[in-house]
Amino acid sequence: MKLVLGYLYPSVMSQYGDRGNVLTIVKRCAWRGIDVEVDDLEVGDRIDPDRVDMLLVGGGADSHQRVVCEDMLNVKGKAIRQAVSAGAAAFAVCAGYQLWGHYYRTASGEELAGLGIFDAHTVHRAAQTGTRLDTITRAGSVRAVGNLVVEWNKAVLVGFENHGGRTYLRGGSQPLGRILAGGGNNSEDGSEGCVYRNAVGTYLHGPALPKNPALADHLIQAALSRRYGSVALEPVDDGLEVAAHQRALEQAAAKPRRWKRLWSDGVG
Ligand code: GLN
Repeated sequence: MKLVLGYLYPSVMSQYGDRGNVLTIVKRCAWRGIDVEVDDLEVGDRIDPDRVDMLLVGGGADSHQRVVCEDMLNVKGKAIRQAVSAGAAAFAVCAGYQLWGHYYRTASGEELAGLGIFDAHTVHRAAQTGTRLDTITRAGSVRAVGNLVVEWNKAVLVGFENHGGRTYLRGGSQPLGRILAGGGNNSEDGSEGCVYRNAVGTYLHGPALPKNPALADHLIQAALSRRYGSVALEPVDDGLEVAAHQRALEQAAAKPRRWKRLWSDGVG
């Protein structure tokens, strides 16, 4: 079996180690004898929606989002929507997640149009409050920064967040999970991320997938099922992943940020 993974804007949108998500998918597939072809898709590159099985996009500063948003919308947008509607798996982190919503209003108030895959929109806290980002303190005061712990399908996901944008889900759109610690979507309604078909949007950086193996396998399973019908993934030895997950949870617990409650740890 083989999967085609489209990696969006690797040279612009890979903040906080998000490239590690691609490596994780490749490795976890290789351990099961599944080949993964990784296509780096930079500005100007086109996507074949029938050929791509999984799409990954990482995070970036407002200035990075400015660089890619026109291309995301007008060069790749139609193909990304087609692939996701046809069941391709996708993992969109932070800045990428924001640009897969309807729009992102940046810290300076400029509105970057999004793909509208997630029924959500994002506004930078500085644009909401009129905070001038002229000092480190002021810039930090409008960001959600730190460990992020999320309840997902009776399991726990753990990672790191650093964003000024606050995302608001609309209507019936489904969050990825509930916040156990951290800000998540908007530090207001307790939700984190968004799910549409097999596309997952999240604020989990770190990178997220190495220490959340069940989420990585969920994406692999979805991509394989679209291409090959229902496929059972062989279990692999996740000793290291579970240890890293546990360590990250301990670190999050050591630096308490608005813990809701501690789930009896099903590793995500
Ligand atoms: N620039 C966006 C924000 O500040 C996304 C940041 C990121 O990807 N880490 O919210």
